Amino acid sequence: MNKKERLVAAIENGTVIDHIPAEKTYQVALLLGLFNLTTPVTIGNNYLSKKIGKKGIIKVSDKFFTDEEISRLSVVAPKIVLNIIRDYEVVEKKTVDTPDELRNIVKCNNPKCITNNEPMQTIFNVVDKDSGILKCHYCDKEQDINKVELC
Ligand SMILES: [Zn+2]
Repeated sequence: MNKKERLVAAIENGTVIDHIPAEKTYQVALLLGLFNLTTPVTIGNNYLSKKIGKKGIIKVSDKFFTDEEISRLSVVAPKIVLNIIRDYEVVEKKTVDTPDELRNIVKCNNPKCITNNEPMQTIFNVVDKDSGILKCHYCDKEQDINKVELC
């Protein structure tokens, strides 16, 4: 195992989330509900990365995320990689797929939208996955996935 692989695979079983842009590490942890887990979680930040400058790495023991949970990350860090670890080995690498629909993940940027005035979930349809254009299900306002505010 080389140095780089050791950095990733330091847990026995679980998930190592890698290539998180450093400024998004906290949001990734929030979106995955890591602060509610009872299993060990290690959050590291500002590691040097040739690809993205500074990056975060999150190690979560004994936790494997569903594709639905992983798809939530498309709003903050679409390029991250999730390494699935079993018995200290990376057995699978998962990347983030932008879903067709985002439920209660981002806020609508239209102040008059009903979702900003009533206690209710937001629903966005992803109209263009490549350029990251979302459209509010209620008011039809489009927004850029890179500029959204999280719920
Ligand atoms: Zn709206």
